[in-house]
Amino acid sequence: MSYYASILSDERLVKLFEYLIKTKKDVLIPEYDPNYGHIYSDIIDIGISRDHVFELISKLISLGLGKAEYYDQILRCPYCNSEHIRVYFYCPFCNSTQIYKELLIEHIRDGVIGPISKFKSQNGTLVCPSCGSKLITEGKDYRIVGVWYRCLVCYRQTDLPKIMYRCRICKKEVTAHGLVISSISKIIINKLALEEFFRQHLIIKPIIEELKEKKFSVNYPGTLIGKSGATHKFDILGINEKGEIIAIDIVIGNEIIGETVILSSFVKALDVNVKKLIIIAIPALTDSARKIAESYGINVLEGKTISEIITSLRSIIT
Ligand SMILES: [Zn+2]
Ligand SMILES: [Zn+2]
Ligand SMILES: [Zn+2]
Repeated sequence: MSYYASILSDERLVKLFEYLIKTKKDVLIPEYDPNYGHIYSDIIDIGISRDHVFELISKLISLGLGKAEYYDQILRCPYCNSEHIRVYFYCPFCNSTQIYKELLIEHIRDGVIGPISKFKSQNGTLVCPSCGSKLITEGKDYRIVGVWYRCLVCYRQTDLPKIMYRCRICKKEVTAHGLVISSISKIIINKLALEEFFRQHLIIKPIIEELKEKKFSVNYPGTLIGKSGATHKFDILGINEKGEIIAIDIVIGNEIIGETVILSSFVKALDVNVKKLIIIAIPALTDSARKIAESYGINVLEGKTISEIITSLRSIIT
């Protein structure tokens, strides 16, 4: 199955690829939503409900339209799998969560150590309580030697409070050992699938619709047998009621397109009996390619978007 056929198998994927082309995105980055946890907000943006985002992502991957790559670590509750975890510091003696944290600093010159509150002067600057000198630069005058936690209920001090993780959803608590470590991926969209979708859905499909509207019967791709006996393939063949054939070749490039494509289409068209040969070049041809096309009597339609091209196409085929 072609990538395009895979995309067409699910209307939501069509929406997603239209969105990706429009926004020029080729990767889906998960974002943290405080209510729902990590989610692919691009998928939400195309109108998919939250409940179906991950289902669509796995479908995308299973169809080969994208691949998952590690993006970030996520800690989860072992009871309800939620990623909404809060960290709590407890007093190890009385289990209170009313904890006051204080830095321990040392006056480097005389080695005096104490909680930072003992060093604070009235105007907020640091002054050694022992020798009275001003402590200005961290690392030079003083350094941080540790942290103290003081319980505001039992007033005991510790440098090792009990750390627990509480789930915001089910309210249960676990230690670090109990937490589930999982991860979330970013989704790298398959470039070939994007290109194929762009070509088939955003270029070829509207051209076919236009031809059908003008009463052409359409084959895509279409083949014709030449005078030489060789079979030639064109991206689109349109046949009108009089039996006249229009052959269309489409070239899509990242930059302007050179004359080789003009020549190869022209050689095919010479061998077969077509009323008109049209080359659609996205975004544009080089000057020399345009001149060659002109001198061979080939209709060339250039443009960045299909709407620019359809308007010119209409005037050529009617
Ligand atoms: Zn939970
Ligand atoms: Zn306590
Ligand atoms: Zn001192």
